[in-house]
Amino acid sequence: MANDAESSRSGRSESALPPISFEFFPPKTPEGLVKLRAARAQLYALKPEFCSVTYGAGGSTQDGSFAVVSEILGEGVRAAAHYSCVGATRERVRGHLAQLKALGCKDIVALGGDLPSGYGGGVGDFRYASELVEFIRAETGEHFGLHVAGYPEIHPLAKSPPADLQAFAHKVKAGANTAITQMFFNSDAYFRFVDDADALGVHIPIIAGIMPITNSSGLLRFADKCGAEIPRWIRLRLESFGDDTASIKSFGLDVVTDLCDQLRCAGVPGFHFYTMNQADASVEICRRLGA
Ligand code: FAD
Repeated sequence: MANDAESSRSGRSESALPPISFEFFPPKTPEGLVKLRAARAQLYALKPEFCSVTYGAGGSTQDGSFAVVSEILGEGVRAAAHYSCVGATRERVRGHLAQLKALGCKDIVALGGDLPSGYGGGVGDFRYASELVEFIRAETGEHFGLHVAGYPEIHPLAKSPPADLQAFAHKVKAGANTAITQMFFNSDAYFRFVDDADALGVHIPIIAGIMPITNSSGLLRFADKCGAEIPRWIRLRLESFGDDTASIKSFGLDVVTDLCDQLRCAGVPGFHFYTMNQADASVEICRRLGA
């Protein structure tokens, strides 16, 4: 097995797998919904701590998002609803919090969010995720576990790296229980981020966001958009495979498993897999890690 060879080469893989969680997006078609249910069934075998469901800022996928949250809860699994506040009014957020409570949801990934291009709604009452965290705590006390986003490689719109870190510390201190990072492929960026946050008094678990590599062009496009760096050697190797998806997947599994291995050896408190509604790559990475 390729990965056994890698593990013995690096001398790692002895520590236990930390808690894992999976992220899904609300499908736009009935076929997508059927595929997502099948993926979830496969992923539940790995006993995730929770599963989360993304949410389109400006309310674009709100109904679909809450419907998937409700399905996951109905399957007996802890579900975290992503919720972004830009463009929303206090009244609207209050209504959604009541809706989530009624569904039995106890976890929210509280986000600022990005308004979709062409968004025609109002300015709203919130600018930053920290304001949403404060509002949710003020409205609902400790009912919800609150999780916020962290950016080991700096949020693309941040004024400066220190300002981004201060903003992160601020939203954590407003009442977040954990943070989940943006995807990254460079473990040093994660370790530095955790150390810098710690120095600012942020001691909550910072869960590593893990993006399995299953295709090349989509990943490169998304990484550019969200400000995550694809190291040159990974980018060039991916580009060299062209349309050879089998090689891309095989290389991707090796790279991401090795990243996870480095992180768990350093004591990462959790892995949050960006599944893109597909199970195979996340399952295989966890299997290679000994799940
Ligand atoms: P914030 O924490 O508000 O930060 C946004 C920017 O504002 C940063 O540059 C920050 O430095 C700056 N900032 C924050 N506070 C201040 C302040 N007080 N003064 C000045 N500047 C400040 N997007 C979706 O649309 N739907 C999703 O479901 C979704 N889920 C995500 C899950 C995770 C784990 C992650 C990492 C990202 C997710 N995103 C999602 C993307 C996210 O919405 C974008 O990255 C968005 O641009 C920022 O959201 P945030 O919560 O990090 O915002």
